[in-house]
Amino acid sequence: MEKKIAIIRGDGIGPEIMTQAIAVLDAVAAKFGHTFTYEDAPMGGNAIDAFGVPLPESSLKTCLACDSTLLSAVGGPKWDAIDPAIRPEKGLLGLRAGMGLYANLRPAELIPQLKDACPLRSEIVDRGINFIVIRELIGGAYFGEHKTWEENGEMAAHDVMAYKEHEIRRIARVGFETAMKRGRKLCSVDKANVLDSSKLWRKVVCEVAAEYPEVELRHMYVDAAAMQLVRDPSQFDVIVTENLFGDILSDEASQIVGSIGMLPSASLGDGACGLYEPIHGSAPDIAGQDLANPIGMILAAAMMLRYGLNMPDEAAAVETAVSRALEDGLRTGDIMEPGMQRVGCAAMGRAIVERI
Ligand code: NAD
Repeated sequence: MEKKIAIIRGDGIGPEIMTQAIAVLDAVAAKFGHTFTYEDAPMGGNAIDAFGVPLPESSLKTCLACDSTLLSAVGGPKWDAIDPAIRPEKGLLGLRAGMGLYANLRPAELIPQLKDACPLRSEIVDRGINFIVIRELIGGAYFGEHKTWEENGEMAAHDVMAYKEHEIRRIARVGFETAMKRGRKLCSVDKANVLDSSKLWRKVVCEVAAEYPEVELRHMYVDAAAMQLVRDPSQFDVIVTENLFGDILSDEASQIVGSIGMLPSASLGDGACGLYEPIHGSAPDIAGQDLANPIGMILAAAMMLRYGLNMPDEAAAVETAVSRALEDGLRTGDIMEPGMQRVGCAAMGRAIVERI
């Protein structure tokens, strides 16, 4: 197959880890007989320096014209003091809005070789942790009306948490489709015992469930879900939830599986083109020193292969190569343990390429 991939090299450690992800994709292309071409789409601090804006229109166009977009991370102290309207993060928000990305997928998989990084007890860890949190990204309380006012001599404030049926239906479909590609178990998280928006959420999720009889659906209140995630995360396969609940639960999920340098995420919309990135930032404290862990970025490329380009075998080849490099004792500084071999960003990338 021939695929065009938009590349956002970003700031800080971004260019270093992206170089490794591209090397891994080239190895996949060679092994499976595909042709990947890459188109640079400047975004973030480097785009502010070169073009005066964090997201040049041409970059958005490039992303929309490609089959998928791979992003490292943007931002850094150099741009912290500039006009908030053109800060690097605005580029990210502009990209999400411009590409219509309403679903954020964050897998939480504990790689057995790194199980000591998990803060949970070993009998819980031994049951296995491998699930994915799907968070609605452009609705709910973060996008409803925000208002602060004075009333009877004191301040008052509200944030409106609103959802329309179509917004729930499309994210529910992403939940069911993802479950179909995994273990066919979906847990929809809401607060339907209290919130009207959650009652509507549950009703619409149940309607969509009729289209996916193979998927086992259950509902859980968000407080129970927060508790179950640390009590027995092995029970989950796919979790789907609204924006605010998903923000909190996806951070809880990433904490239980260890290092920030290891985890990828995907943002999807109705168009073919999704955005794939590691969950960490641009780590300016270690930029340019060959210290960054490229695995989160490389696993984001694997997610792109699986969910964006429909290449599950190719994705599995990357994930297996990552596991083998770790099994062989290779560690970047952030995940270093006694008895292991410490390597830099480039050497870790090379080791993964060699194992594909
Ligand atoms: P960060 O994730 O960049 O770094 C937090 C800590 O984790 C640092 O000590 C860093 O060295 C370490 N770290 C992160 N990724 C690593 C990796 N791959 N390998 C090894 N160590 C790693 O978060 P921060 O310091 O809060 O933010 C730095 C900059 O990144 C800020 O400008 C922030 O706005 C930006 N940021 C961007 C994104 C994004 O582009 N999606 C996300 C978060 C933060």
